[in-house]
Amino acid sequence: MALNKKRVVIVASLLSLLFLSIFWLVKPQLKNDNEVVEAPPVPEPTIKYGIVVDSLVTIEEKIGKNQFLADILLPHQISYQEIDRLAKKAKEVFDVRKLRTKKKYTILTSLDSLAKAQYFIYDPSPYFYVVYDLRDTMNVYKVERPIETRRMTGSGVIYTSLWETIVKNKLPIEVAVKMEDIFGWSIDFHQVRKGDKFKLIYDEQFIEGQSVGVAGVTGAEFVHNDVDYQGYYFEVADVDYHGYYFDGDARPMKKVFLKSPVRYSRISSGFNRARLHPVLKRVRPHLGTDYAAPKGTPIYAVAGGTVTKVAFSRGNGKYVKIKHDRKYSTQYLHMSGFAKGIRSGVHVKQGDVIGYVGKTGLATGYHVCFRFWKDGRQVNHRKLKLPPPKPMPKKYIPAFESLRDSIQLQLDEVQYLMEDELPVKFTEDNNSKPDSLKS
Ligand SMILES: [Zn+2]
Repeated sequence: MALNKKRVVIVASLLSLLFLSIFWLVKPQLKNDNEVVEAPPVPEPTIKYGIVVDSLVTIEEKIGKNQFLADILLPHQISYQEIDRLAKKAKEVFDVRKLRTKKKYTILTSLDSLAKAQYFIYDPSPYFYVVYDLRDTMNVYKVERPIETRRMTGSGVIYTSLWETIVKNKLPIEVAVKMEDIFGWSIDFHQVRKGDKFKLIYDEQFIEGQSVGVAGVTGAEFVHNDVDYQGYYFEVADVDYHGYYFDGDARPMKKVFLKSPVRYSRISSGFNRARLHPVLKRVRPHLGTDYAAPKGTPIYAVAGGTVTKVAFSRGNGKYVKIKHDRKYSTQYLHMSGFAKGIRSGVHVKQGDVIGYVGKTGLATGYHVCFRFWKDGRQVNHRKLKLPPPKPMPKKYIPAFESLRDSIQLQLDEVQYLMEDELPVKFTEDNNSKPDSLKS
């Protein structure tokens, strides 16, 4: 018994000694903060497109005008027969006829200039690339680059324009469109002015550290004319709200009518019962609102309805009229052309493109003259009190309210930056601004 116990003790001490020595052997590799001390440098292999390229020559080019795969590969000792075989193999994965001018490609070949190229990689977009493995049996595969979504916050105080504020605050340009989608129902973005401000929480997508776009806005706040507006993204499974933004009281942000039939436009002439007509040079009531926008800008149906007229007249030029219900109709004049499928009797949804900005008929510049009828009478839609949208079904309200509160807490955390704290200063010109965003 005693002997056995002694044996156990000896074995136990030997074991602990062993553990200790292992520990001491391992320990010098660890720093206090558990960081592993760098191992003696082993040269890291250089990997491009998932291929070790250390012993290869990399040729990076762009596809030239009228350049086919054969033009690219023949100089790299790939025969016509091989190119043909490759093209057949590629059909299922990425047809070589889809290679486009000005897109990037890479050839990996061995150092021996007379050797055959080993890989051709077509890299047309941040989202994916296609590897054409030219060795032996040939192999073609497409690789999607992983997209990383990051939750971001942003804010801006408007000094000149919304556009400029977004640029100066280094926010992705798309947030302008997203905010208009959320608040365009309540705020007339033609009237955004100095001192207006906004905050938002959004998901931005990145590929290899580069932003590729905004996936969505979770919540936003816009202060316009000292009035505070909030929009919270909430999914209502069985109700189609086209956007799912609600205000703090669970009312849909979306209204029955869009504020205007074109985006990023400028009101060049308002509704006026005694206007001097710019072409006719005499007083004639202007029973519509003119939105100036570049030629070809899409014109949207401001609400769902049935197209009652797709026509041309000397005054109106090409125009479309939509009957929304028994009470309301709208009309869109001076179009350069109609959208595909738009003809009398067709049903359109709110936001559907019905035509494009032009200056057909009696018009001096590119614009859409937008006319609004209520009970058969032409009215100024900008002064109209319009019907409210359908409310959120009651059963969703508790879930909505808890989401709203958590989004609002996050919004409250976001700070407004003052003019001198901005990442980009208010000194540069904004000539790079796309025409569609000029106001
Ligand atoms: Zn007009």
